[in-house]
Amino acid sequence: MLIRNICLPDGRRGQDLLVQEGRIAALGPNLSAPEGMEIVDGGGWLLSPPFVDAHFHMDATLSYGLPRVNQSGTLLEGIALWGELKPLLTQEALVERALAYCDWAVARGLLAIRSHVDICDPRLLAVEALLHVRERVKPYLDLQLVAFPQDGVLRATGALEKLKRALDRGVDVVGGIPHFERTMADGAASVKLLCELAAERGLMVDMHCDESDDPLSRHVETLAFETQRLGLQGRVTGSHLTSMHSMDNYYVSKLIPLMAEAGLHAVANPLINITLQGRHDSYPKRRGMTRVPELLAAGVNVGFGHDCVMDPWYSLGSGDMLEVAAMGLHVAQMSSQAGMKACFDAVTVNNARILGLEGYGLEPGCKADFVLLQARDPVEALRLRAQRLLVVRGGQVLSRCAPATAQLSLPGRPATVDWTLAR
Ligand SMILES: [Zn+2]
Repeated sequence: MLIRNICLPDGRRGQDLLVQEGRIAALGPNLSAPEGMEIVDGGGWLLSPPFVDAHFHMDATLSYGLPRVNQSGTLLEGIALWGELKPLLTQEALVERALAYCDWAVARGLLAIRSHVDICDPRLLAVEALLHVRERVKPYLDLQLVAFPQDGVLRATGALEKLKRALDRGVDVVGGIPHFERTMADGAASVKLLCELAAERGLMVDMHCDESDDPLSRHVETLAFETQRLGLQGRVTGSHLTSMHSMDNYYVSKLIPLMAEAGLHAVANPLINITLQGRHDSYPKRRGMTRVPELLAAGVNVGFGHDCVMDPWYSLGSGDMLEVAAMGLHVAQMSSQAGMKACFDAVTVNNARILGLEGYGLEPGCKADFVLLQARDPVEALRLRAQRLLVVRGGQVLSRCAPATAQLSLPGRPATVDWTLAR
């Protein structure tokens, strides 16, 4: 396949992209097409590497309203509600919902997802279901699984043994939830224990960490310290980190350099944390998202996650990482050109680094995985939640979508609307 006339996220225009044997063979202006090659008109639109979601819960997705909806809108009621739903889950329903979500994801150009999976069930029902789904979707979507002790690895009886069993079954990454343990000391102990387990097994770590408005929730400090102590640099992610929003500035001035030194990745979940955080505040109400621009400025790799779609914690969402990035942009007030571009990176290249995806990108030699967006640059893609005109994996078209337009009937005006103004 040769795609003619595309823009790239770095601003290059009028480029062609040549795909051979599932990889990108060449990228540049005016490439010549080998004999018999399929030629696709890129229409001058933006071609991006696919969207990547660094933080999701595929075992809970599309369960909204089962068995009831979250009345208070808090994280804690969501956890309680998930506890009510768990005994009612069946493997068939879990698989069906996860596959349906993966269909949505592909149509949105989202081709790699790191999903946490709750391991606190003695049957490991969700683990078995998502391992099955991981295999089923392998031809078209990379699903990476995190062994997530939702009820606390120390707080819930037998959770550590179940977590190890999930890893033995083939779950990829070690998870945790230190702020949900009973005490700060237990939270810190859980971080140490889980990082040691990951080091022993040569695995990555991704913890729900300090997802609270408590400025004294400081488990990310322990996570960074253990990362360094165990030589896990580049393999550990702190997810949410919302307490950092409320922390004392002096303390943060020490913390962020420690996180950078430890090579910690950070994941903010803008849609979910703007919804869940600050629920105990009257006014002013805190936004609660972690300090994204400050972390980026210190050299910490920050990604954005979708976290939830139609589940006990969040009633909306459709697998659209542009919606996630746009919310992150607003909540973090990253409205400069560079800030907006960084938000696009947070749902593409930064997340790919967090997952450790091989062959991700648009350079020759990379996998021929990409999405053609009805926009001229990343900022316009964010502004318009651009249509995914073409979604390609390994050189094969997975999804097509017609350009968005409208037929106008206005005196003295054009017959169709064009929202794309970027030059
Ligand atoms: Zn989460």
